[in-house]
Amino acid sequence: MFKTRKIVDLSLPLTNETPIYPGDPEPNISVATMIENEGYNLHYVHIGSQTGSHVDAPYHFCPNGQRIDESDLSLFIGTGVVIPVLGKGEQEPIVMRDVEAYLDQLQPGKIVLFHTGWSQYAGEEKYFRHPFVQADVIEAMIERGIRTFFIDAINIDITGGTAFPVHDRIAAVNGIIAENLTNFQAIDFPDPLICAFPLRIVGSDGSPVRAVAMDVE
Ligand SMILES: [Zn+2]
Repeated sequence: MFKTRKIVDLSLPLTNETPIYPGDPEPNISVATMIENEGYNLHYVHIGSQTGSHVDAPYHFCPNGQRIDESDLSLFIGTGVVIPVLGKGEQEPIVMRDVEAYLDQLQPGKIVLFHTGWSQYAGEEKYFRHPFVQADVIEAMIERGIRTFFIDAINIDITGGTAFPVHDRIAAVNGIIAENLTNFQAIDFPDPLICAFPLRIVGSDGSPVRAVAMDVE
């Protein structure tokens, strides 16, 4: 019998103030109907495909890449390996030296979570000058069979540039990236079961998710 001891929410609150990638559609969540008027409460939810905590499909950066509805659902669930990279400065790269000690834990089916701590700056200008992952780090992880990467920052690549080398490499192996996550410090138990399923938006480049880490027995 499957038992959940704890569920940690890794998602940012989704509001009209949720930080969005520069240039993305502005979220507009508002009341559509009210019990007093129509007999039931309902909201309009106008958001981009990658607003709030979200996953990227390979199609986001690869014209022939899989769309989010075509991705293997097994990519969105797995045992997490949290790699602490706290204490990085603005736009500082996460390099091989930072992750070396964790490479032995990586096997196909596992999910890597880069814990930068940067989500504490959500809502500030500094949020967009987050640390980013260097391409050779991702290559070493892909070599070990990792296909799913989570980060508690708005982008796994540097924001403000025109190149997305980490997105390109992950898309090339039909992998998945989850971004704009938070609360990784609350994963205080071993072998967290990580789960962040996308909506089945046909043809989409990505989807908002409710990302969680579960302590299960
Ligand atoms: Zn992305």
